[in-house]
Amino acid sequence: MYVEVAARIGADLGESPVWDVERELLHFVDIHSQRIHQLHPVTSAVTTLEVDGPPGAIALLADGGYVAGIGLDFTALGFDGTSRLIARATWGDRINDGKCDARGRFISGTLDNERRQGAAALYSVDTGGALTELVPDVTLSNGLDWNVSNDVLYYIDTPTERVDAFDYDIETGAISNRRVFADLQSAAGRPDGLTVDSEGGVWVALARGGVIHRYSANGKLDEVVPIPTPGVTSCTFGGADLSQLFVTTARALLSGVQQKDDQVAGDVFVVEGLGVRGRPANRYGNNVSKG
Ligand code: CA
Repeated sequence: MYVEVAARIGADLGESPVWDVERELLHFVDIHSQRIHQLHPVTSAVTTLEVDGPPGAIALLADGGYVAGIGLDFTALGFDGTSRLIARATWGDRINDGKCDARGRFISGTLDNERRQGAAALYSVDTGGALTELVPDVTLSNGLDWNVSNDVLYYIDTPTERVDAFDYDIETGAISNRRVFADLQSAAGRPDGLTVDSEGGVWVALARGGVIHRYSANGKLDEVVPIPTPGVTSCTFGGADLSQLFVTTARALLSGVQQKDDQVAGDVFVVEGLGVRGRPANRYGNNVSKG
């Protein structure tokens, strides 16, 4: 296994990496600088879309473009920047992290800027744009993904220092039976983004911890991947055969002294040789046009 820089970005808050299997490139955001980047790993070329607000989460639309959480708005966003409002979150100060389920819904939560306990929520936006509050009493909504059979949703509300699991009804999008999947209270750093591989392993980015943890489907820690900067925010599998793990990082998670000394903070990293593959990213349902 080895880790290298995939893109010298120096993002203030790199997040929400999504691999595009059709175009073979990585989409990710820099929330604070209000940018969505596209990285072509083979050439290292990066193209950038400036957006009108903090893009806390992106996923791909079935017919091209993004579903994006910008501020509190769920928006259909063309790659050219044209946008159309889909729905608006009510709890929290801005949308933070999200993914599409296998039926094309966008599941995405919010955060409270002052980290007031319970002031945010996790939402589901269905393919018709209807908004459902899935989890109330959230503080800092973060990583989520589904198991291989799409009947378990893994979810992180960062201040809980846990990865929780819900039963997930893929037909209705309803959740039930919340329980602790992995307790990270004694881990270095706090749980942030996550992705599930094709064997059901759960890869969790530990913000300020400088590591990615892999938990097997039974919740046991079975791999620790060190990343060369502490501000590890999220990860996703990509590359032509989905065997590379792309990792976003943030300068904002470092102290001023750390920022001065850390030449790779905020860059995107790629981890090779993990011996496991990811799954193609789900897309938001095709009855919303790219705008
Ligand atoms: Ca995050």
